[in-house]
Parts: sequence; C-alpha cells; structure tokens
Amino acid sequence: MKNIIILGSTGSIGVNALKVVSQLNAKRGLKEKYQVVGLSGHSNIGLLKKQICDFGVKLVSVSDDRAAIDIKVWAKQKHLKLKVLKGASGLKQLAGQKNSDMVLSSVVGFAGLEPLLAALKQGKKVALANKEALVVAGDLVMREACCSGAQIIPVDSEHSAVFQCLNSELSGVRNNRSIRRIILTASGGAFYQHKGSLDKVTVSQALAHPTWQMGKKITIDCATLTNKGLEAIEAHYLFGVPMDKIHIVIHPQSIVHSLVEFEDGAVLAQLSHPDMRLPIQYALTYPERVPAQLRYLELEKIQKLEFFKPDFHRFPCLNLVLTAGRKGGLWPAVFNGANEEAVKAFLGGHILFTDISKVIQRVMNAFPREQNILAKEKKMDLQKVLKADQWARNQTYKVSVF
Ligand code: NDP
Ligand code: MG
Repeated sequence: MKNIIILGSTGSIGVNALKVVSQLNAKRGLKEKYQVVGLSGHSNIGLLKKQICDFGVKLVSVSDDRAAIDIKVWAKQKHLKLKVLKGASGLKQLAGQKNSDMVLSSVVGFAGLEPLLAALKQGKKVALANKEALVVAGDLVMREACCSGAQIIPVDSEHSAVFQCLNSELSGVRNNRSIRRIILTASGGAFYQHKGSLDKVTVSQALAHPTWQMGKKITIDCATLTNKGLEAIEAHYLFGVPMDKIHIVIHPQSIVHSLVEFEDGAVLAQLSHPDMRLPIQYALTYPERVPAQLRYLELEKIQKLEFFKPDFHRFPCLNLVLTAGRKGGLWPAVFNGANEEAVKAFLGGHILFTDISKVIQRVMNAFPREQNILAKEKKMDLQKVLKADQWARNQTYKVSVF
C-alpha cells in the first residue's frame, strides 16, 4: 500500500489525480494499491468534503478559520474521525506528515513553495505539478531535495515527457552534458490563431484553451505564453540544463509533449493525447508503467503534427519571463509575484489582457538591481524569496491603475 497526500486536491490536477488513484485501485493484479491519507483545499470546501467521504481521508488542511470550523462541524455530524489543519502552517504540516510515501504538490502559485519544501525536508517522494515553486526558488528546492535524498518526479506534461525521454536512456547517458537542447512544446494558448488586436479579448475568450482543461491561472498563463517561460525555468532546475539550451516551439496539436535532442543529433520525444491523467499516473507508478484508461494514439487519424516559432512580439510576457529566468537570482520570483497579481486583476475584470505584460514590465523595471546582485552573491534563502515575492505584489498595485 502506498500512502499518498494530495496538496490542492480540489483543483484540476488534484481531481485528475484522485481519478487516477481510483482507476489504479480498481485494476486487478496491480502490485501496489494507493491509500489517500491527506488532502487540502482552499475555497471549494464542498468538493473537499465529498473527496474526504469518497476516499476515507482522516487528515485535511484548509486555508482559513471559517472553512476549518465548517468542516469540523460537518465531520462531527457525520461521525467522521477527521483531523483538520489550517492556514499556511497547516498545509506545511500536512506536506511533511511522516505516514506518507508520496506527496502530490498541486497547489497553484507561490502558495505551494513552503509545503513543497516541508515535504522535501522529510525526504518524501514528490510528484510536482506546482511549477511556480521551482520558478521562484529553484536553487532552494533542488538543494533541499539533494540534502534529504527526496525525489522530485515532474507532473507537468512537458517535463514528464523530458523525464521519460531521459529515463529511456538506459546506459550512462543521464549525464546532462550529452543533452544538446530540451525542446518544450506549447499549444499556443487561446490566442495563437486569433486575428487582430488582443486589447479587447474577454476573460472567457482567454479561458477557452484549445487542447487542455486546466485551472484558471495556468490557462491565462498559456494565453499570454508566460506558461512556457515558467516551464523553461522549471526545466532548467529539474534537469540541470542551462536556460539557453531550452528551446520553445508552438505545436498546436498538443500531441508531442516535449523532446530531448542529444549531442549526436538524435531526438527523443514523448507523444500521447493531451490528458493530464497520463503524466500524473506515470509520476505515481514510476518507475513502473501500468495500463491507463486513456485513448491510444492513432497517428494516421491525427495525420498532421505542426511546429512553429513563438511570436515574441505579440506575446511579450514570454520574453519577460525568459529574461527573468536567464538573469536568475530573485528575478523569477519578482516576475512570478507580478504575474500572479496581474492575472488575478485580469480575471477580476480590472485590467485588459494586454495590460498583463505592461504591469509585469513596470514591476521588473522598478526592481532594485542591487538587491538581486546581493542575493546572488550570498546563498539564496527562503526569506529573500518571500521578501522579493511580497515586494513584487505590492509594486504591482503601485504601478497599476487597479
Ligand atoms: P487549480 O486552480 O485548478 O487548483 C489549484 C489548487 O490549489 C486547488 O485545490 C485550490 O483550492 C488550491 N489553492 C488555490 N490557492 C491556494 C492557496 N492560496 N493556498 C492553498 N491552496 C490553494 O490549478 P491547477 O490544478 O490547474 O494547477 C495546479 C498547479 O499545477 C499549478 O501550479 C499549475 O501550473 C500546475 N499544472 C497544472 C496543469 C493542469 O492541467 N491543470 C498542467 C501542468 C501543471 P480550491 O480549488 O479549493 O480553491
Ligand atoms: Mg505544461
């Protein structure tokens, strides 16, 4: 029996992960069964309650007092034995529980960083969807994993693809110097085919992703192409490959999930229909592969796989995030803080789609360079990252009209 904790179980990845767990447990002849020992939710407490009942969960974490009281009263009425943790410290406590074999980190945004560090500190096997944690504090996260011997298995489909390509190299080729390039594919998001100005596009247009069903924040990040820049930084830390060896191509069909080009010119890729249940399942069962209840690929039906250059001019966020990634230090945290606030403002109807990049650019322009130089000289620590994140969020409101 593998005990698993899911942080952010009420989100898109969390819900898919619970489907995978049910499907795996229903399979006959599978060596390992999965027991969900902890869950967390933020605003969707109704769904969290349903998940607690469906999976017989005994430990949960919620963000605030109201939700904690609500869920305690409900559990008492139902005669359930349930321990309820709350707030940021509750989420960290949940992530670091001794009785779990694996933690799936699928909280969205910066809020996932400290729980991830708590899980890694305990040497847990972590299935990582929360890319923002690696973006803002990649050095710190990888250092923590290295010190405790914790293993990070990527869930993000592109990184799962790269991980699978590298795992298929059975001999000593794990040496990342043999990698010439990592090629990340991007669907292009909601506006890749959009003609005309992006000034007037609506929130619902931006949320209409052509190939993937995901949470709102990542869907907007796809529409601005920020997501692919975040993923380049994520790949840089996960695979130890320099930013300039990470290449981005638009691939509207979302069938090729990413590729690795080696020094000898060979290119390995992972292909499948766009469905997050596959990378989630791979992360849970790794290093085993087991049958999944997913459609197999029929290439003759797909017929066409296209690849294009991204349009940096039309999607300026991509340049901004890659610049932050190349500069390193605290710059990715500054970018990320500004982006999270700007996306929230766009979703709330306070700014235009095209304002997202303008706001981030202004925040980055205002970031005191000395601070970043100082942070790079001394070892990066959590306090500096928290400070940079808070600075960027405050600055977002100073430079904007909302
Ligand atoms: P969702 O918005 O659907 O879900 C986010 C989860 O985090 C929910 O459980 C939500 O709770 C919880 N949450 C939100 N804010 C907080 C907070 N401040 N503190 C604690 N918990 C919080 O996001 P996704 O599932 O789409 O994405 C999750 C992560 O995975 C992101 O980092 C994303 O980039 C990454 N990812 C997602 C993919 C996808 O297919 N969705 C693909 C690849 C990567 P509640 O719903 O109860 O409010
Ligand atoms: Mg991805």
